[in-house]
Amino acid sequence: MRRSSASLRAFPISPVSRSTAYRGLATHSARAAAAAVQTKPTPPTEVTSDDLPVVSVAGRKIAVGWDSRTWSRFHNLWLRDHCRCSACYHSITKQRLLNTFEIPPDITPTHAEPTPDGLKVSWPSSEPHVSLYPWSWLQQHSYDPPLHQRESQLDKITWGSKIQSSSPTITYEEAMAADDRGLYKWLSHVDHFGICFISGVPPTPEATEELSKRIGFIRETQYGKFWDFTSDLAKGDTAYTTLALDAHTDNTYFTDPCGLQLFHLLSHTEGTGGSTLLVDGFYVASILKELHPDAYSILARTPVPAHAAGEESEIYKPYPPSGYPVLNHDPVTGELTQVRWNNSDRSTMKNMDPYQVEEWYDAIRIWNKLLTSADSEYWVQLGPGTAVIVHNHRVLHGRSAFTGKRRMCGAYIGVDEYRSKLAVLRERFSSDTAEAGRSVWSPSL
Ligand SMILES: [Zn+2]
Repeated sequence: MRRSSASLRAFPISPVSRSTAYRGLATHSARAAAAAVQTKPTPPTEVTSDDLPVVSVAGRKIAVGWDSRTWSRFHNLWLRDHCRCSACYHSITKQRLLNTFEIPPDITPTHAEPTPDGLKVSWPSSEPHVSLYPWSWLQQHSYDPPLHQRESQLDKITWGSKIQSSSPTITYEEAMAADDRGLYKWLSHVDHFGICFISGVPPTPEATEELSKRIGFIRETQYGKFWDFTSDLAKGDTAYTTLALDAHTDNTYFTDPCGLQLFHLLSHTEGTGGSTLLVDGFYVASILKELHPDAYSILARTPVPAHAAGEESEIYKPYPPSGYPVLNHDPVTGELTQVRWNNSDRSTMKNMDPYQVEEWYDAIRIWNKLLTSADSEYWVQLGPGTAVIVHNHRVLHGRSAFTGKRRMCGAYIGVDEYRSKLAVLRERFSSDTAEAGRSVWSPSL
C-alpha cells in the first residue's frame, strides 16, 4: 500500500492529546473545577429533581445545560432515532423497532422540557409521540461535546520484567467458584495486565479445559479445539518442536487472531529448559512511541502479510491479503488496540512503498530490540499446576529451547467471547451498573 507523505500527518490523534482536550473541557466547568486535577474527564454532577438541567430547542438541535458553563447539544434527528419507548425499541431483545428512514430529516420537536426522570420530548406525528431520555444516559452519550471518556486503555496497566515480583494471579478455586466473583477478578486482571496466572490447577487436560470454558466456548482452529500436544511435529508449526520461540502473537495469519490463549504445562520429563517468555506489547509500543515516534508511525501504517502453510491441506492468510500493521489503533480515539507480531509467519513484503523499505526494516529492528530487552522480557518457569492466560492482542509470548519431553495443553478463546463475559460480569458486580436486569438505557447499548 502506497501513501503520500501528506497522509502520514493524518495519523490518528494520540490518547495523550485526547485526554488533554478532556482536561481543558473540565476546567471550563464550574462544578467540575474542583476535580479538574484528575486526569479523567469530569462529567457534570448527577442531576437532582430540585436542580434540573436547562433545556432549549434551538433549530435542528436541543441544548441541555448541565450547569452554567457545561452544555450538550443533541440533533433532533439523533434524539428521535434514539427513542427507546416500547414502540421504538424492543425492551427484551434490545433491538431497534423504529424505522429510522421514516423520520423526516428536518424533524423538530413540538415541545421539550426537563423532568426529574429525564429530558421529555414531544414529536409531531399523526399520533402523539413522546420520548423520555434519562439524564445519565444523555451525559454518557453526549457527543457535542463528549463529556465521558470513551472505553479506553487508561485502565490498562503496562508492565516490564519487574512484574515478576507481583504477577497477577488467581487460584483455580476462585476461577471455578459458582458465584463468578473469582471469574470477574480473573478477567479484570486480564483486562488490566493482559496476563493472569491460575495456581492450583489439577494437572490434567480435563480440568484445564473446564477452566478455559469458564470464559466462553473454545475457539476451534486448524490446531483443533482443546489442544493437548507434545514436541512431535504433529502439526507443521514450530510450536510442535523443541526449538526456542521468539516473543510473538499468535494467528497473525488470521483476519481476526484469537483473543485469549490459555496454556498449562502438564509434564516435563527427562530434560530441562522451556521457560515461558511474556512481553507486554503495549508497554514496548509506549516506549517506541516515546523514543522513536517515526518508527512507531511506520509500524502503525505498514500492513504486514502473513501465512500459516506448514500443512499441505491449509493455506491461512489474513483478509485483505496485504495484511495488517504491527500496531493497530482505534480510529476514533487513536488508542493502540492490537499488536500483531510474528516475524516467523511474515509473508513476502511485496506491497511496500519502495521509498519506505529501509525505513520499515529500521523500525522493526528497533521494535525487536525493545521487545528483546531485559527490561521488557518476563521469563517464568511454569510447571504442572500453574496455567497462564495471555491476551493475544496485547501480550507476546515465547519460550526457550528445551530437551526431554513436554506435554502442553491449552485453548484459544475468541476476543468477543471474552469481552462479552467481562461486560456481563461488570454489569453484575460493578457498583455503577448493578441494577435489576439490563435496562434499555444500559450504557453499553
Ligand atoms: Zn418512541
